[in-house]
Amino acid sequence: MSAEPIAARPQPGAVDPGRTPPIVDHGPRGQKVVALTFDADMTPSMLAALKSGQVKSYANLAILDILEERRVPATFFVTGMWAERYPDVLERIAAQDRNEIANHTYRHAAYKPNCYTLEQLPRTEMTADARRTFEVLAPFGGNQTHYFRFPGLCHDAAALTALAPLGVTVVDGDVVSGDPFATAAAPIVRAVLDRVQPGSIVVMHITEANAAFTDEALVPILEGLAQRGLRPVKLSELLASVP
Ligand SMILES: [Zn+2]
Repeated sequence: MSAEPIAARPQPGAVDPGRTPPIVDHGPRGQKVVALTFDADMTPSMLAALKSGQVKSYANLAILDILEERRVPATFFVTGMWAERYPDVLERIAAQDRNEIANHTYRHAAYKPNCYTLEQLPRTEMTADARRTFEVLAPFGGNQTHYFRFPGLCHDAAALTALAPLGVTVVDGDVVSGDPFATAAAPIVRAVLDRVQPGSIVVMHITEANAAFTDEALVPILEGLAQRGLRPVKLSELLASVP
C-alpha cells in the first residue's frame, strides 16, 4: 500500500478551482497595516532591448537592498519571463521569509482589449499563460501564493472566466504609485502618501529601466507610512480576514 499523500497546504489566495476569481483591491480598513507590492514586468520587446544592450537592467536591486536593510515585508508579482531572465534576483526574493511571490502572467500581454499599449493575449491562451507562470515560479520556493495580478490591472468577465480553473485571487490595488516612466521620485512619493490608508495595497514596480525612481521614492514612502502609523505586512497577512 502506498503512503497517504501529504495534503498540500493551500497557498495564500487559493480558492476553489472553477470559481470565478474574487477580486481584491484593498484589505480591511480597520487595521493600520498596508501591503507593498512590486510588479516584475517582462515582455518579448523588453527582452530584446536587454539583448541588444539598449537597456541595461529591468531589475532594481536597490529596492531589495532597502527592504532587506529595513526588514520590510513585500509581495512581488512576477512574470514568467522576468523570472527566467533574473533567476538569481528571484532567488534572493524567495530567500526572505518576509516576501511573498505572486503571478503577473508569463509575458505581460493584456488579458483585456485596449489595455494601454500592451499586446493582446488571445482568449484561448489565457489559462495556459497563467498556468505556465505558476510552473515557472514554483521551483523558486519561498512564500509562493495564488495571488494573480493582470498586466495594467486590465480585466473583464472573459479574463476572469479564463482564470477560474486555476483557483486564484485577483489582486488590483487602491494606491497606484505611477512609478512606471516617472521622471522623478517626488511624484511617486506624493501619489502614494496622498492616497494610502489602512488596508491599502500599493502598486509599484521593480523594473529599473521602466521605473527608474522607485528605489529613490521608497525610503520617503516608508518614512511617511511610519509617520502615519501604517505598518507594511505581507499581502496574505493584509488579506487574512477577507473572505
Ligand atoms: Zn505589470
